[in-house]
Amino acid sequence: MELSRLLRPVRTMMIAVFAAGFLASAFTLMAPIAVTALASRALDATLDAPTAWLCLAAIAVGFAASHLIVLAATGRAHIVESAFRHDLRSRIAHHLARLPLGWHTAESSGRVRTIVSEDVTKIHTIIAHSGTDLGHALGTLLLGSAYLFSLSWQYALLLVGWLVACLLVFFLGMLATPSGSIEVFTEAEKDLTSSTIELADGIATVKAFGMSTSLFQRFSDALDRYTTASYEWMKGPGTPMAVTMALFSPAGLLIPILLGAWGLDRLGLIDPVLIVPFLLVGVTLPSGLSRVIPLAHLLAQGKDAAERISALLDEEPLAEPASPATIPDGAAADIVFDDVSFRYSDTAPDALHSISARFPADSVTAVVGPSGSGKSTLVTLIARFWDVSSGRILLAGTPITELASSDLLSRMAIVLQDGGLIADTVEENIRLGHPGASRAQVEEAARAARIHDRILELPDGYDSVVGSPGVHFSGGEAQRIALARAFIGDPDVLLLDEATAQADPHSERRIQEALGALARGRTTIVIAHRLSTIVDADQILVLDEGRLVESGTHRELVELGGTYAAMWEAQQ
Ligand code: ADP
Repeated sequence: MELSRLLRPVRTMMIAVFAAGFLASAFTLMAPIAVTALASRALDATLDAPTAWLCLAAIAVGFAASHLIVLAATGRAHIVESAFRHDLRSRIAHHLARLPLGWHTAESSGRVRTIVSEDVTKIHTIIAHSGTDLGHALGTLLLGSAYLFSLSWQYALLLVGWLVACLLVFFLGMLATPSGSIEVFTEAEKDLTSSTIELADGIATVKAFGMSTSLFQRFSDALDRYTTASYEWMKGPGTPMAVTMALFSPAGLLIPILLGAWGLDRLGLIDPVLIVPFLLVGVTLPSGLSRVIPLAHLLAQGKDAAERISALLDEEPLAEPASPATIPDGAAADIVFDDVSFRYSDTAPDALHSISARFPADSVTAVVGPSGSGKSTLVTLIARFWDVSSGRILLAGTPITELASSDLLSRMAIVLQDGGLIADTVEENIRLGHPGASRAQVEEAARAARIHDRILELPDGYDSVVGSPGVHFSGGEAQRIALARAFIGDPDVLLLDEATAQADPHSERRIQEALGALARGRTTIVIAHRLSTIVDADQILVLDEGRLVESGTHRELVELGGTYAAMWEAQQ
């Protein structure tokens, strides 16, 4: 199973701390043995000073040794666990870096957050605590029982019989409750966590729509389900569990210990002094069991967490060529689609059907079509957000899958509708296009993107942090910062998703100016939503339901009188 596969590197350590926990429980027994000796000698007046000192020393040694062993084992487990957690987190981070860009959606980022923060922590409790706890629990139960049996098998049998009867009550109670309610409870708990995260992420939308959005509905449904499941759980397995815990508590155990001592003494089967070890050891016997029950819950959660972590680590990374091809310096960065088809999953329909097209270097190609026609899919395939299902995409004559993905990405700039800004300074946001660029280069790129003056108006100019108070950009401004990022990277290929929202005419004109300057000398592919911005494009490709239905210049396509002409007509 996934959990044991994941824990393989720490298995030896876990076995060692389990053994240490077991050993510590043996030392714990020294104190009751010594106290019993003291008590029986005191009762028959044979206690002398050396014996008393010996007993006291045994108590001290047992106490110190058991605590030191547990401390050392727990400490060791924590050290190993923190190294394991560090390795696991960096394995996850490396793996995430190798996954296709298209994998990193909002949904997957929520999943990654749960895995890295919550799931890895659940594994912590299992590795750092369960070995010692289990060893100690089992040792207390087995060694303690063996010790009590050695004193009086009848008395011990009575006590163990009581424990077995309690367990029977517990199992019968569990059998009588509707099965699956623990699973229902765990599911409801998970559901509540994920809908709380979704709600927190989408709180602005929720507030804007007066708590009536589906996000809020989902959260409130999840809360209801959780409350019902908790109630059902308490009504069902919760009751026998609580009764068993009460019977296993020291107060509950006084019943068989006191009644047993009274009854067996009257029958003349035991020496009454035996009540001392039975009181001291007997009440601790099930303490292990009460620790094991929460541990079982923890293991169930750990199993789930391990499955999620393994599923993430099993996600197919982007295939990297063993010996990457290189594009000769100065080669024209033409992009060619050679009979490309693509579907998002094996069961999904084709998002693109047999597309063959050429995007010549030093020219602007606009991709247009109705929503859902495959424009974004086509553009993201060029940056290997996903790999094609069939066919090939070539850059400067080389299949993109034969290039190192870092090389491929360094040759392109991708400008998304919202600019794709991160919560860092404006300067760093622009520098992302060319790490190591100087401040002067950053400013030059911002001037070329017609955003320099706007940046200087910010409270800290280029050092202002995006998203901090007073540092907010309109869609058009964010896109111009992204254009500055593209300028500084000096890419061969520019992939641009034009903003759908109508920017104000001033911003619009500035974006067009910046774009005109940026596109010069590059292979530019722009997803156009407003046809008025692309009348001068060198080539327009028209997509419909994943097929390339028309291509040509604006004039040619209008004259053709087909899909494009109808779209053009509709937008006038
Ligand atoms: P456009 O950009 O023209 O609006 P898209 O390329 O976004 O179109 O979408 C083309 C088709 O692929 C649509 O049917 C869409 O539902 C589907 N699609 C887009 N992205 C994904 C995705 N990440 N997973 C599954 N299907 C997707």
